[in-house]
Amino acid sequence: MSDSARSEPSSRPADPVTEAETRPNTQSEYRFFADIMLGSLARWLRILGYDTAYDNRISDEELVRRCREEERIALTRDRRLVQRRSLHRAILVHSDRLGEQLRQVLAEIGQFPAPERLFRRCLHCNLPLEPADPRVVEVSVPPYVLKTQPRFLSCPACSRVYWAGTHRVRVLQRLREWWPESPGPVEDHRPAESC
Ligand SMILES: [Zn+2]
Repeated sequence: MSDSARSEPSSRPADPVTEAETRPNTQSEYRFFADIMLGSLARWLRILGYDTAYDNRISDEELVRRCREEERIALTRDRRLVQRRSLHRAILVHSDRLGEQLRQVLAEIGQFPAPERLFRRCLHCNLPLEPADPRVVEVSVPPYVLKTQPRFLSCPACSRVYWAGTHRVRVLQRLREWWPESPGPVEDHRPAESC
């Protein structure tokens, strides 16, 4: 997200179509694969803490194979894709507006945004972030940020460093706009100690 030191230094149920039963599940167990047209949705699902694969060069066949093997829910706007019987499960995303897409996906899995899961996953690699020692990340973090931020997280794959920043406030504002009827789940009660 915009708090990445390397990528963006300035700061980042309706008509469900399923091939499998919706199983009782914990939030961390839902995994997605967003198709080529849903890159922004994939990014926001990662912001919300969901394991969301995305590859803008992948073929439909490969996407279907990976969804099946990794038990991922395919997210697509392609009605033909959701009709593939070999898919583990698929959600046909109706809207071209991001907020409505997010609301639909979370409604279909019966969840709301959970503040404790925000900003815990690398937006580029999709991997869970790990705590990082400020002394280790200082070479990739602006001096002011190093002085003012007590805690950093980093990606084990790409080494991008994340910290709490103004982007977090903007993300929370957008979540409140998209879920105005449910202010509780998207309230942020924690100090700015995490990304
Ligand atoms: Zn990464």
